[in-house]
Amino acid sequence: MKDFTDWFERALVEAELVDARYPVKGMCVWLPYGMKLRTLVLGILRDLLEQSGHREVLFPLLIPEDQLAKEAEHIRGFENQVFWVTRGGGEDLDVKLALRPTSETAMYPMFSLWIRSHTDLPLKVYQVVSVFRCETKMTKPLIRVREVTTFKEAHTVHATAEEAERQVREAVEIYKKFFDSLGIPYLITRRPPWDTFAGAEYSIAFDTLSPEGKTLQIGTVHNLGQKFSRVFGIEYLDRDGSHKLAYQTCYGISERVIASLIFVHGDELGPCFPPSVAPVQVVVVPIPFEGCDPLPLSQEAEQELRKAGLRVELDAGEQRPGEKFYKWDRKGVPLRVEVGPKEVEGRKVTCVARDTRERMEVPLEELGTRVKEILRQIEERLKQRAWEKMKERIAEVRSLEEVKGEGKVFRFFWCGKRECAERLEAQTGVSVLGQEVEGKEGNCLVCGERGKSSFLAKSY
Ligand SMILES: [Zn+2]
Repeated sequence: MKDFTDWFERALVEAELVDARYPVKGMCVWLPYGMKLRTLVLGILRDLLEQSGHREVLFPLLIPEDQLAKEAEHIRGFENQVFWVTRGGGEDLDVKLALRPTSETAMYPMFSLWIRSHTDLPLKVYQVVSVFRCETKMTKPLIRVREVTTFKEAHTVHATAEEAERQVREAVEIYKKFFDSLGIPYLITRRPPWDTFAGAEYSIAFDTLSPEGKTLQIGTVHNLGQKFSRVFGIEYLDRDGSHKLAYQTCYGISERVIASLIFVHGDELGPCFPPSVAPVQVVVVPIPFEGCDPLPLSQEAEQELRKAGLRVELDAGEQRPGEKFYKWDRKGVPLRVEVGPKEVEGRKVTCVARDTRERMEVPLEELGTRVKEILRQIEERLKQRAWEKMKERIAEVRSLEEVKGEGKVFRFFWCGKRECAERLEAQTGVSVLGQEVEGKEGNCLVCGERGKSSFLAKSY
């Protein structure tokens, strides 16, 4: 994986996940195989959200200009990136309509109509939609796009600041479980004030590391306090008969999660999807040989695996076996089942793990249970290897001189002051990501005052 950009874009094409040739900059097409992957990944998150009391909604795509501009900080954070609809048919519109860059200003005026009493709280909703941002930097499929097609945004409303604070912690736990189930390693930091979501009190972010050692933000959780409820009039009648302003949070992920899934588990061949979300978990490849037809046993094997509840594909096409191996390896299928003359004779199959290339002979009658066990082991190995690779790239530094070398993330103590961050950034050329949420305490590398463990990294 020498050139990451090249590797990543080739992986997308060869695995047939998305097609980036769509003629609008920063927009691409999800292909059937990619769409299946996306659905499986989102399924995990939907379950986690539903289990914790979130309910799915769907808001309109267009937001009137005056509504979008109501929260001053928020609009300042987004105004240079908004796409506008200005005409309807042949007429200019009276009020410009924005393609949502995010949905706070679409949802919150409606929340103010829905919430009347403390009994209406908490309100916890989410939606999975496209959002649009006019990226001016070079776009990259799934990583920096103009149409974010897989924006899962959750929005909550609470009676007290403590409840909102608790919600932030719940959201962090939900995302941890989500990324853990995908085997995506992460760093969790509280972003510095100058890198906080526009309109939030504070932001907590999840970042993973690319093979070139840059951080990629893959999830964010924001405590909005009362900033939006004040502007949009989200009030409730409390038990004591008084009207009070509500507290809010919001949190989101995007298709960057899919991008991470591809590169954190990738190797020279391409992606290797964790069995839990692999669109095809097992591919059965018959290997014909003089006078031996492996197809009947291959079909039996396919049926056994299907009965075991696995997503399996029998590749009985006309390509040579070697070409099929090549194709399915590049589609990230975690396990291959080979059926040749030796297998036909012994009523067994040969399983080949995509990650280690290990070959295992399995009798047909044990196929379902054994393959499930092998897939469980692959899942565990992928997760462990991804975390190890990330940890290897984290360098602990105690002085500015130690901040050197490519492809690394530096962990250091920082007091949280802007002038210290600026000095660090100026001298090292890398950016302060934020303070670790569950970090240790120590003396700031610049000023020596009490601080918390933090990261310096290059980011996308
Ligand atoms: Zn300092």
